[in-house]
Amino acid sequence: MFRKIGWELTLSYVMVIVFSVAILGIFLLNFVEGYFTGNARQDLYRQAQLVAEGWPRNVSLREPAPNEIRFFWGMVERLSHQTGSRIRILSDRGAPVYDTGGEMEPDVPILPEVKSALSGTAMAGGSKASLAQAYPIFEKGPSGDGRAVIGVVYVSRSRIYLSQILSHVRSQFYLGFSISMLLSLLLALFFSHYITKPIVEITREADNIAQGRLDKRVRAGSRNEIGVLSSKFNMMADALQKTLNELTEEKNKLSVILKEMAGGVLVIESGGGIVMVNKIAYRILGIRQEDILGRNVNTVLPGHPLLRLLEDSDFSREAHGALEDLPDGTAVDAHVTPLFTDEGKPLGVVVILNDVTQFRRLDRMKTEFVSNVSHELKTPLASIKGLAELLLDGALKEEKASEFLESINREVDRLTRLVKDLLDLSKMESGMLRLEIHPLNICDIIQQVMMRLTPQAGRKNVEITTSFGCTFPVLADMDRIQQVIINLLDNAIRYTPPGEKIIVRTTEKEGRCLVEVSDTGPGISVENLERVFDRFFRVDRARSRGGGGFGLGLAITKQIVENHGGSIGVSSTPPRGTTFYFTLPLAGE
Ligand code: ADP
Repeated sequence: MFRKIGWELTLSYVMVIVFSVAILGIFLLNFVEGYFTGNARQDLYRQAQLVAEGWPRNVSLREPAPNEIRFFWGMVERLSHQTGSRIRILSDRGAPVYDTGGEMEPDVPILPEVKSALSGTAMAGGSKASLAQAYPIFEKGPSGDGRAVIGVVYVSRSRIYLSQILSHVRSQFYLGFSISMLLSLLLALFFSHYITKPIVEITREADNIAQGRLDKRVRAGSRNEIGVLSSKFNMMADALQKTLNELTEEKNKLSVILKEMAGGVLVIESGGGIVMVNKIAYRILGIRQEDILGRNVNTVLPGHPLLRLLEDSDFSREAHGALEDLPDGTAVDAHVTPLFTDEGKPLGVVVILNDVTQFRRLDRMKTEFVSNVSHELKTPLASIKGLAELLLDGALKEEKASEFLESINREVDRLTRLVKDLLDLSKMESGMLRLEIHPLNICDIIQQVMMRLTPQAGRKNVEITTSFGCTFPVLADMDRIQQVIINLLDNAIRYTPPGEKIIVRTTEKEGRCLVEVSDTGPGISVENLERVFDRFFRVDRARSRGGGGFGLGLAITKQIVENHGGSIGVSSTPPRGTTFYFTLPLAGE
């Protein structure tokens, strides 16, 4: 690629050479012309002088005797022939006497140079076509040479010969000029290509860098300014690449942090356009992963509670609040922080969204738990206090005293049971309860529990039947699994109407042992089914309390099963009974 600068350089080279050669040529041609003209004039002068001085002694020019000057005419002719000059001899009146050019013209006007020669001074002359020289012939008498002019020698030569030489010189000059032009053009092209090549390369690589290909570099060749420019250019590209790499790395880090952050991040510019949203924010705000970047937050989240918070912040103040009434019941904590330029101009806001649903639920559960525990404690404590006051007030001495003390004892037992259940539950939930796991025959354990509960079932006239399909031993803690079966069977006996049956069934299912306890009691409604395993949950509080339950039995049962790595569930078709079931891992699995 030979760019403009290359042609400009070539042109400047060529112009410098053309001008210098042309000026040199003009001087040279002028010099050659002057030199040859001067030479020719000198030549003519010498010839004229030679002829004038060779005029024979004692011979008149007006009427020369032919035999006296024949020899002289012969010499003049020879000279004229050899030099190519025309030699004329003129009389003292300027009339032609002899002419080597052929026919003599009788009435030739007397030229100034002839006039000068007639007055005794040689003079050069001539016209455009020829050069001429007039020289006086002085009288030569027997007594010596006088100063009287007896005639004039007029030598002339055509300029054709001179112009031939000059045109030859000129054509040689033009030839040399053309060759040197051609050579200098080629050299100029070569040199400008050589000089501009690194510049062209730098331009190309600058283009590449501008298009983002930052790994491109220029070959730093020579040590001149262009070489320095190349190495500076490379240094600049290095620095640019390094900075860009650092920036990209920072940006990647930042985007990974933002993407993987537990909280949702939403960046909105002052006009309301969404600049950035991370994954969690999409989920929290309930927007689908479509192209929302650049769109206005009001159109993306119409009527969303977040808009109220943005209004409060007015894109220039901090705002913080809980986003209530979200469609999916999520509880979200939102923090709006404004962003400003260095000059204090508002840029937009960063919204940090935290899903606090779980936190709120736990908080609610904690409050509920505390209030449930206080409630359960309050009743027995109130009756203990009442009874104790009665005893203090004198009842101690009465017959009823032992009855009161028995009641106090019962209430204390009940409180102790409650505290034990709560402790068990909290130990199991925190994983502090160590299980003594052994391979056990679940059917044997069920039989033992049934034996223990026979009197209770008998009192209610409820029959317990079994169907054992799981013969493999399970991995379980004997006491805890007994507790599970007691809880389930106790509930079943409690809710089964007299004269009806309870079935305890074991089956092997998907490599686990499934235990089911089915009764024909009133069943549990669908809305309560989900809650029966919650702490302190009782469908009918009054009835349960009468039976002595705190609503902790199923919560403990669930914890025990889950701590064994099993799962527990319930199905019910009110009013036709309930089935509680749980699974346990088989030994050897
Ligand atoms: P409690 O020890 O107070 O009985 P549980 O946790 O064992 O507490 O049971 C919680 C609630 O589940 C009970 O109050 C009762 O309403 C319901 N429930 C448990 N088992 C049955 C069942 N077999 N049939 C009907 N309802 C039941």
